Amino acid sequence: MARIISVANQKGGVGKTTTAVNLSACLAHLGKKVLLVDIDPQGNATSGVGVEKGEVDECIYDILVEDVDATEVIRSTPLAGLEVLPSTIQLSGAEIELVPTISREVRLKRALAAISDKYDYIFIDCPPSLGLLTINALTASDAVLIPVQCEYYALEGLSQLLNTVRLVQKHLNTELEIEGVLLTMLDARTNLGIQVIDEVKKYFREKVFETIIPRNVRLGEAPSHGQPIIVYDAKSRGADVYIELAKEVVASGERVR
Ligand code: ADP
Ligand code: MG
Repeated sequence: MARIISVANQKGGVGKTTTAVNLSACLAHLGKKVLLVDIDPQGNATSGVGVEKGEVDECIYDILVEDVDATEVIRSTPLAGLEVLPSTIQLSGAEIELVPTISREVRLKRALAAISDKYDYIFIDCPPSLGLLTINALTASDAVLIPVQCEYYALEGLSQLLNTVRLVQKHLNTELEIEGVLLTMLDARTNLGIQVIDEVKKYFREKVFETIIPRNVRLGEAPSHGQPIIVYDAKSRGADVYIELAKEVVASGERVR
């Protein structure tokens, strides 16, 4: 059975997609079998692993709304060991279309349950909202990984996210844990970054990953080439830190088991 981890934060631009793509790719690089589930209508995780959105005919929308089998929608990627459940803009209608449907919160969970034994890890890249798509992701997951950008007001909005996590734990998925809080886009030249690290650690304590993701130009460039950092520039600092994070995720999973 795969360990299923949602990458969630309703704030946009905090590094969710960058983390979902690169953590997935680094775990595949380390020999794990990984599925990346793109549940954001923007489809940036899909294109980020080299799948052209224009060439996708069935996407996660068809799984959630049309009950199509996940196996029919899964695509391989140029990186061995990494597959993707793609998203397209069609998914933007799902949030509303799902509202009147039966078992609307557990559709992704059911779809992934049927395929989860084929993978070691499944990562779900969430949209920047706390709507039904994110609820589906949290309900399907063993754990949630929360990227927090090292900037002013870093903690703002996190109480809403934690509240949603608690509601899902209470009503839909009692097993859901917090995998960890990941500090992203640290600019080591400023004091602000250091202050934010202290503040986040005070609040989340041992839940904060030891690995901190710095700002790295190569990480910002890789998506426009449709490549994870480990493919785009394996020697970059960005590749190093996401490999480090991948190892931390593996180690914490082994402690749990
Ligand atoms: P989200 O999915 O939370 O909206 P993204 O992962 O798409 O956030 O990141 C927002 C933007 O910042 C993207 O253009 C991405 O390429 C860039 N970015 C993310 N992390 C880094 C980083 N560590 N260094 C440089 N640029 C980054
Ligand atoms: Mg994103």
